[in-house]
Amino acid sequence: ALEIRNVHKSFGPREVLRGVDLTVPAGGVVAILGPSGSGKSTLLRTINHLERPDLGYVAVRGELVGVEVRGARLHELPLRAVRRQRTRIGFVAQSFNLFPNLTAQENVAEPLVAHRRLARPGARERAVELLSRVGLGDRGDAYPRQLSGGQQQRVAIARALALEPDLLLFDEPTSALDPELVGEVLSVIRQLAATGTTLVIVTHEIGFAREVADTVAFIDGGVIVEQGPPSLVLDNPQQPRTREFLSKVL
Ligand code: ATP
Ligand code: MG
Repeated sequence: ALEIRNVHKSFGPREVLRGVDLTVPAGGVVAILGPSGSGKSTLLRTINHLERPDLGYVAVRGELVGVEVRGARLHELPLRAVRRQRTRIGFVAQSFNLFPNLTAQENVAEPLVAHRRLARPGARERAVELLSRVGLGDRGDAYPRQLSGGQQQRVAIARALALEPDLLLFDEPTSALDPELVGEVLSVIRQLAATGTTLVIVTHEIGFAREVADTVAFIDGGVIVEQGPPSLVLDNPQQPRTREFLSKVL
């Protein structure tokens, strides 16, 4: 479902991604681990073309996202095509990014109204179904400030699911949560993994990565140093940098 080929990205003189290759089959679950500043968020932002790669390309379901740069050759899609592609890629950030003045139900319904042109009653009905999937079927009328961090993050996940994306990206979805709220969010993600949603998850939860991911990718200094099944990368890492990182976080 997702193909990342030779992606490079610099900010000024700083080379943040230095040739990233990653393939995720439909229904695959990839956990991305790596130290702070290694380029994990930049990689996720490049996947949905919030960042434009300087070289290389990203494709989702065989369709180029945004731009392909091959040497001096550049193939760039029109903005409206990029916008449409972004609706096929869900994104859940560390902070919940809900609209504070909209209820949970309205937050989830919003993309359906904006991108699917659903009438509001239909969109709200669908929103309640989506909220039920994350265990919040009875909290649709609550405003974000009336919900716990874990509940807000689950609303954000329901909203990301609204457009039935081909791919869902998570950037440290539990790192802003109090420890006792981490479990409820992980269990929603676990359920998505089990139902065949294609997921790319940046996480520091090594135990969770081991459990849900079929591939773990360790990124350091803007390159994927090592990738493979959790049993290999987490339990029997081949690269010294991976070993050193794991010894610090485990
Ligand atoms: P963390 O674990 O702390 O979230 P990360 O692996 O997600 O780190 P990134 O956010 O991708 O790291 O950042 C990688 C590097 O790129 C950092 O040095 C950061 O300062 C730099 N960077 C990211 N975005 C920008 C930007 N828009 N302009 C300039 N530098 C940036
Ligand atoms: Mg980050």
